[in-house]
Amino acid sequence: MGKIWALPQTFLTPLAEIQEQRSALVVTTLPAYDAVKKYLALSVTSLLEVQEATLPHWDSLLAQAKPAEVVYAIGGGLAFDAAKYIAVKKGLPLVGIPTALSVDAFFAWSSAIREGGCVRYLETKAVDNLLIDFAFISTAPPHLRAAAICDLLSIATGCWDWQLAERRSKNPPAMAYQATIEKIAQAILAASLECAHSAGAGDIAGLKQLLDCLALETQLLNQVGHARPEEGSEHYFAYLIENEVGKGKSHAELVCPGILLTAALQGQDWIPLKQAIQACHIPLNSLPLDLIRSTLLKLPEFVHQHDLPYGIAHEITAAQVQGLDLAALLAESVA
Ligand SMILES: [Zn+2]
Repeated sequence: MGKIWALPQTFLTPLAEIQEQRSALVVTTLPAYDAVKKYLALSVTSLLEVQEATLPHWDSLLAQAKPAEVVYAIGGGLAFDAAKYIAVKKGLPLVGIPTALSVDAFFAWSSAIREGGCVRYLETKAVDNLLIDFAFISTAPPHLRAAAICDLLSIATGCWDWQLAERRSKNPPAMAYQATIEKIAQAILAASLECAHSAGAGDIAGLKQLLDCLALETQLLNQVGHARPEEGSEHYFAYLIENEVGKGKSHAELVCPGILLTAALQGQDWIPLKQAIQACHIPLNSLPLDLIRSTLLKLPEFVHQHDLPYGIAHEITAAQVQGLDLAALLAESVA
């Protein structure tokens, strides 16, 4: 039986007005929790601090968890992905409080885990109730508060890859290219570009439009049953380079350089994408240029080895990498 997942029920509410009678297991990262705890009146039985996205780590958190009636995910993607796993294992309802709009994981029903040098998506569950306080999110660190735009800008490169795969007859039947779906995805991309400046500045209207775009993008992926309209070589680049730079970089910090590099390799106009990234204060200079080059050179072998859906990453040549003007792509000012 086919299944189409739904988005979480979403409530727009000041954090201080959240009424929670149940005892709670809080899954979080400490900087996020420190920022939010003074607004929350929760009866917390265990505070589980997530360090990394691996199953052994999540199982160790699960083992520490004291009995509770509800799980709260508080923070960004790392906290949400772990909390979804823990809520499933405990059979408990899940409430989510994003402290920034930093990734699309708040809406998704899967958890991304790092395994064998790549990222795998594990079916877990969608958050039951998502609580959004835009006034609070607007005070989040500027490089995080609207960073989820990376998972919308990646529509530009993801859809291009999806079309390439179709031309090369590399799409399995379940991922066959659908022009109508791409049209909808491109409209979501256009709406994301439109709100980049106001969301990046922390304006409530811009953050609301960004949230709308993330919800629509996630539901679009739910409808098609795969992530090809949004995920391609830019994410593969991020997965590979994350192995080299280790933990501690945000998803957007890894994916956004990947978007610009991939768009350039695809021959697309990357300047509007770069302007949106910069408007959302996502750093483009946190990866060493020589590491970027060596990662691009290793990418064809990496995507083959991990059997990732076909894209331009499968075809990158040394001459193409040589021809990229990394300084222009990633420098502070737009060329
Ligand atoms: Zn992503």
